[in-house]
Amino acid sequence: MVNTTIRTTKSEQIFTAAQKLMPGGVNSPVRAFKSVQGQPIVFERVKGAYIWDVDGNRYIDYIGSWGPAICGHAHPEVIAVLHETLEKGTSFGAPSVLENVLAEMVIDAVPSIEMVRFVNSGTEACMAVLRLMRAFTGREKIIKFEGCYHGHADNFLVKAGSGVATLSLPDSPGVPKSVTNNTLIAPFNDLTAVKALFEENLNEIAGVILEPVVGNAGFITPNLEFLKGLRELTQEHGALLVFDEVMTGFRIAYGGAQEKFGVTPDLTTLGKVIGGGLPVGAYGGRLDIMSMVAPAGSVYQAGTLSGNPLAMTAGIKTLELLQQPGTYEYLEHISKKLVNGLLQIAEETGHAVYGGHIGGMLGLFFNEGPIRNYQDSKKSDLVKFSRFHQGMLERGIYLAPSQFEAWFSSLAHTEDDIAQTLAAARDVLSRI
Ligand SMILES: *Cc1c(COP(=O)(O)O)cnc(C)c1O
Repeated sequence: MVNTTIRTTKSEQIFTAAQKLMPGGVNSPVRAFKSVQGQPIVFERVKGAYIWDVDGNRYIDYIGSWGPAICGHAHPEVIAVLHETLEKGTSFGAPSVLENVLAEMVIDAVPSIEMVRFVNSGTEACMAVLRLMRAFTGREKIIKFEGCYHGHADNFLVKAGSGVATLSLPDSPGVPKSVTNNTLIAPFNDLTAVKALFEENLNEIAGVILEPVVGNAGFITPNLEFLKGLRELTQEHGALLVFDEVMTGFRIAYGGAQEKFGVTPDLTTLGKVIGGGLPVGAYGGRLDIMSMVAPAGSVYQAGTLSGNPLAMTAGIKTLELLQQPGTYEYLEHISKKLVNGLLQIAEETGHAVYGGHIGGMLGLFFNEGPIRNYQDSKKSDLVKFSRFHQGMLERGIYLAPSQFEAWFSSLAHTEDDIAQTLAAARDVLSRI
C-alpha cells in the first residue's frame, strides 16, 4: 500500500532485511501487519503515549507494547529504579527481596491470589496453570472459549483468537491432535454450551479457562451472568475456574476483571502490566492449589530467569504508579472519550461500527453489533478496517494492525492526544 503522507523509507529497508533473518521479519506474527496488508513500521524509541519510527515520524500509540505501557512508555520513575537495580546486576538466579515485594503487591491486589509464582511470559503462565489444574483435579480435559488466546502452548492453540485468526490458521500444524482432543471449545458468553460440555464429560473436566474480558478476538465484554454461571458450574462439577488476566490484570481495574465483576476464580494468570515493560508472567490462586507447585509440592515448573530483578523492579514501580488515586478513573475517562468520539464520528460519516471500553482497554469493530462472541466479531468488515488502519497510520496514529485486537489507553494519553486521534479518524472515515 502506498504511504501518501509519511515517509517510511528506512522502515521499509530494515523490514526487507529482517525478512531474510527472521520468519516473516518478526519475532511475533501480529507485528508483520499481514491482516491489514500493510507495511510494518520499524521503531527506534518510545516515550509516554508516543512512539517514534526509524524515519523520525512520531505516532500516538494505542498498542502500548500490547499492554505493558499502562503508565506511558519509559515512565521516568520506572527508568530511574531500573537504573538503580541495573547497577546491582541483571540476574541472580536466586531469591531476592524484590520478588517478595511484587508477590505481596499481587496478592494484595488480586482477589483470587493467595500465593503466586513468577515466570517470564503470559504463555508460560498459562502452560503452568494448565498443568496445575490437571494435577489438582486428576482430570485432563479443559474448556476454553472460541477467540480466547492463552499463549501459544499446544493445548491452547484451538480457536485461539487474534494472532491465529489474523493468519486464518484454524489450528497450527505441529500441534498433536492427541493434545487438543482434551481442549473442549464453547462460544464466549454461552453458559448453555458450557453446561452441555460438563454433562457430556462428567468428572473429566479439570477446569474452565477464559479471558474474563476478551481482548484477543477484538474487545468483547462478558455478561455478568455468564461469569457467575461459570463460577457455579465449575464448583458444582469439582472443576477449577481460571481467569487469564494476562491482558486485563491491572488494566481494567487494579484487581483485574475479578475485582471489577466480583467473581473470584480459583486460579489467575498475569503478564503484560505486571512486568512494566520487561518480560514477566505470573500465575497464582488458592493456597491449597498453589502449594502443589514445586518445590512446595510435586507439580514441576521452573525458570532460569524467573523473578528477574530488573523485571521485578519495573513491575513494582508500575504497580506503585497505578496505586495513585484517580488512576483508573482517568483511564476510564480517556478510553470513554475516545470510543464515544469514534462512535459519533462513524455515525456522522455513515459507517456501521460497534465499540466499548472498560478502564484502559477498548475496542472498535466495523460491525453493527452487538458483539458477544468470536462469531459476531468475525462478521466485521475487515477490508474497511484495513483502510481505516492505514489511513490512521498515515496520520500518525498507531493502532493494532488487526480488527481482532483490543486497543489500549494509558495514563500518558492526554485530552489533546484524543482530540488529535478523533480529528484523524474524522478525516479517514469521511474518505473510506
Ligand atoms: C498476551 C496474552 C497471553 C500471552 O502472553 P505472552 O507474554 O505474549 O506469552 C496470554 N493470555 C492473554 C489473555 C494475553 O493477552
